[in-house]
Amino acid sequence: MFNRILLLGGSGQLGQVLQPLLKDFSAQTDLQLFVPTRQVLDLNNTDAISDYIAQHKPDLIINAAAMTQVDDAETNPALADAINHRAVAVLAYAAKQQKAAFLQLSTDQVFDGSRSTPLLETDPPNPINAYGRSKWAGEQALVAAYAGTDLLWWILRTSWLYGEQGPRWLQHIDSNASVVTDQIGAPTSALWLAHIIVQIIQDAKTQPMESGIYHATMAGQTSKFDQAQRHLMQRHLIQQGQQPKLKPIKTEDFKQAVAKRPLYTVLNSDKLAKALNLTIPQWTEATDIHFMQLALNQAKIAEANGEVPVGAVVVAADGKTVLAQAHNAPITANDPTAHAEISALRQAATTTNNYRLDGCTLYVTLEPCTMCVGALVHARIAKVVFAASEPKAGSLQSQRQLMNEDLSGYYNHRFVWQGGVLAHAAALQLRTFFKARRQT
Ligand SMILES: [Zn+2]
Repeated sequence: MFNRILLLGGSGQLGQVLQPLLKDFSAQTDLQLFVPTRQVLDLNNTDAISDYIAQHKPDLIINAAAMTQVDDAETNPALADAINHRAVAVLAYAAKQQKAAFLQLSTDQVFDGSRSTPLLETDPPNPINAYGRSKWAGEQALVAAYAGTDLLWWILRTSWLYGEQGPRWLQHIDSNASVVTDQIGAPTSALWLAHIIVQIIQDAKTQPMESGIYHATMAGQTSKFDQAQRHLMQRHLIQQGQQPKLKPIKTEDFKQAVAKRPLYTVLNSDKLAKALNLTIPQWTEATDIHFMQLALNQAKIAEANGEVPVGAVVVAADGKTVLAQAHNAPITANDPTAHAEISALRQAATTTNNYRLDGCTLYVTLEPCTMCVGALVHARIAKVVFAASEPKAGSLQSQRQLMNEDLSGYYNHRFVWQGGVLAHAAALQLRTFFKARRQT
């Protein structure tokens, strides 16, 4: 449905992970992707925006560009308004002339934080800082420009967004820093959100998601304090058993902040989940998304070799060390057992010099077959996470449920499993592969 996509904010936290996904997508569907740098398209220059749109004629604009530093916005509200509001107004007007669809990224900061239950799209915004005001004005500018047209537009409001390097504010945090306990929200992985955007674009071909505002955050909630504590634990900055030294404080006592912060901004993303027919993962499951992306990258290698695109990754018991990355290769290796899972298990066992992979997790893009379930049992793998289900040969949930069936005494080890992580992306990869194969 879309042939010319313009992505703004390509170098931001979301843009950095969205760009490669869109490039893959454009290679599969031969659409054109434009990602102008700030030097090429300055959003502070309204004439430049109109000229660029008229010249490149996009049929979808994804606006992930924003001034997102809340304190900077407070000290320079004019610049925040120029980028987060006026640029959106000009973009939306120019986009409408081209009959382009529009996807705008927005924020939980449009709310005042006075609630204590998850916020719905129908709840009225009431921003309490310059950043929130500029983003809310940007939303309204898009809605006003597209009112009365049948063009598609979506506003995705996300919260506590972080990229592959982790949350920016936690990157250099001291283990004895003061952190607020009364700001509650849902940290959201940029990679997860990027996959959501690709799915919205993909669905637009057949059944476009209805125009409107959507909350798009990961599920669950936490405080800034608990998020920081968890982050430090994972980084091993705090020894096991030792009490964290972070100092809990109230927002009103945190004097370094220039801008006011809304306290409670947990968003209810049920509307999005329903529209895209997906389950929203808990924010604590973001690492699953990250490792599944590595498996998807492996599947791409298989595809390039003419193999069915399946990739697998083995992660150590620490939950962060990647022990193996492998892809499907029975044809190229002349080996009927060269499934991605088997190759990944072999690699991980070689790396650790141990055929038992106690406590390890295997990520794979497709539900494992009977042979692979057998091998995973032999390897004593602790957990299997897969993306797409395999209706014909899947042996965990589809054809057989080998880990759930009553085979007492038959297996000397059982692993837990979970399906559906990035299922949409894996299914798209497989569909594209088989479609191309049928055509040749
Ligand atoms: Zn297999």
